[in-house]
Order: sequence, then structure tokens, then C-alpha cells
Amino acid sequence: MNDPSASLSPALERLAFEIPKVELHLHLEGAIPLETLFSLIQRAGTEPGINSVGDLRKGLAYTDFGHFIEVWTWKNTFIRKEEDFDEIAYKVLLDLAKQNVKYVEMFYSPGDFWRQGLSVSGITESILRGRERANRDTGILSGLIVDLIRDHGPEIGARRLDEVEPYLGKGLIGIGLGGSEQTFPADPYAPIYREARKRGFRLTAHAGEAAGAESIWTVIKKLGVERIGHGLRAFEDPGLVFYLAEKQIPLEMCVTSNVKTGACPKAAAHPIGDYVQRGLSVTVNSDDPVMFGSSITEEYLFLAQQLGFTMEDLKRLSLNGISASFLTKAEKEEMRSLFEAEWQEILARPFVSTH
Ligand SMILES: [Zn+2]
Repeated sequence: MNDPSASLSPALERLAFEIPKVELHLHLEGAIPLETLFSLIQRAGTEPGINSVGDLRKGLAYTDFGHFIEVWTWKNTFIRKEEDFDEIAYKVLLDLAKQNVKYVEMFYSPGDFWRQGLSVSGITESILRGRERANRDTGILSGLIVDLIRDHGPEIGARRLDEVEPYLGKGLIGIGLGGSEQTFPADPYAPIYREARKRGFRLTAHAGEAAGAESIWTVIKKLGVERIGHGLRAFEDPGLVFYLAEKQIPLEMCVTSNVKTGACPKAAAHPIGDYVQRGLSVTVNSDDPVMFGSSITEEYLFLAQQLGFTMEDLKRLSLNGISASFLTKAEKEEMRSLFEAEWQEILARPFVSTH
């Protein structure tokens, strides 16, 4: 890695845009483009103070993590129909395809919409329709991961597993565990994860974001996850960092998110560079890009501009996204050769610094 100030290039922004990407930690409801969300608000009726996309951008600002959850919930109240998810998925995927994202594994939280009378199956089917349309129009590939929210408890989690099982293999690929990690430990979800594995779901869980290294150990040892959502605080236990490197358990890292939510006090203190140097399987992700005023492209740009990552480092991270994904071996190989070809072209440009 370089001195952060030395590798800046005026063409870097364009390059960050063109980097072939995989996104493995993205919440569909946190990625709705502002224009789409604004049209949903208009369709739902009037909302005091929100008369333009600019107002909406300001309305999504938050002061701390508690307020972030409030704003997140407020935004979701404008999704009134199951069909809205078709448009949301389509627009989110189009936005990603424009940034040269070839494949995305998206979380969705269907349990957040029962107040609006939306069913889990209706939401899922609607997203899968939008996903198909986006694939037809842009070629982008995607898989859905249902988020079992810790705060809702294991009984609802078990029910959710049954509700989404019919979609397994039809676009739905796995389960994740979000919500208030600091309040609700993952242990009670062990039987659900065991059952999910048996049924063919792929397994990930948020851990080490709002809680420490112990929480990461729990999802590894008790839930048997294949990947860690965030894993930010692994550094609190050097033995865990060693274990993650040895076992190559991928981390779905989301730097902007960690800084914006305060999980990491400042960007310069983020351990992502250290984890890469220690050989951990690190991937780059945007989490809730619209809520954080970010994008997957800006995540790569941030690593280059603020943390001194070289283009070779970024290439490694983009390829890690393929290895860490839930694609099949053959799909991974196909995608890897596509990425290698695009990277070859990017790195051959005379203005790209690769040292
Ligand atoms: Zn997340």
C-alpha cells in the first residue's frame, strides 16, 4: 500500500467506476435510489417537508445510530405495495450495473413490512421479478439473502425460513442475521442455522459491528456461517484474526458504513488495510449506500484515496468478491476470467500506478 497522498490520479474516479465488481453486503431497502424513493413517497401521498429529491436527501440524514434506525424505519413506511419491490429491485440493480457490478448478493428484510400488510411471499416474488427484468436489460446477476432480524427473535426467524424456502434455487440463496447485535446475541439462532444448512441455504451473519470479537466467534462456532457481515472488531482478539486468515472465512467489510454509524471512530483507524496485509479474505461492500450517501464505486475510491490502496490491492479485493460469493465453482471461474480480462485492460493504461 502507498502513502495515501501519493497515488491520486485525476482519472481515479473514472477507474473506480469501471472496476469490475461483486457486492456481497447490500441491503435492498438501504440502496433504493433517491429518485425511486421520492416517487414512492409521492405515490403514498404527501410527506411534510419532502417536496423534492433534495429535501429527501436531507430527510435521510441522521445524528446517531438510534436516529439512523428511526430514519430507516420512516423510509420503509413509503413502501405500500408488494409490487413496489419489483421496481425497487430493478432500479437498485440498474444502478449497480452502471457501476460495473457484475454480481450482487442482496439482503432483504421482508419482516419489516407486516404493518403495511405486505406478505413475505408477495415481497419475495416481486423482488425476483425485478431481478429478472434487470438481468434481461443489463446482464447483472444477483442472489437474494433473507435477513432474519435478531430483534424479532428466533421463533419468527424459524417461520421466515419456512416462508422463503419455496424460493430457494429460484433466486433466493441464503440467510443472514441483522439487527441489534449488541442486545441480541446470535446463540438462540443456532438451531435455525443448522436447519437452514440442511435445507441448502447459504449462511452469513452480521457480527463484530456493534459488538466485539466474541460475537464473531459465536456466529462462526454456533451458527457455522460461511461469511461474516462486517467483522470490523475482529482485531480485539488476535487469535480470531489468525483464525480468520487461516480458515479464509471472508469478511463483508463496509468501511463507509462503519465510519458513518460510529462503529469505527474514524476512517484512518479502520482495520481493513491491516486485515488485507494479514491475508484475510476481505471484500468491499456498501451496506446501505443511499443512507450513507455512498456507493460501491466510492468505497473503492475511498480505499485508494484515503487509505492508500494501490490498483493491485483493489484488483485483489474485487477478485476476493468472487471467491467469497455463493456462486458455484463453475460460475466463479467464468466470472474470474471476465474480471481478469477487464483488469488487464485497466492496469494496462499508462496513467495507472500499480506499485
Ligand atoms: Zn448490513
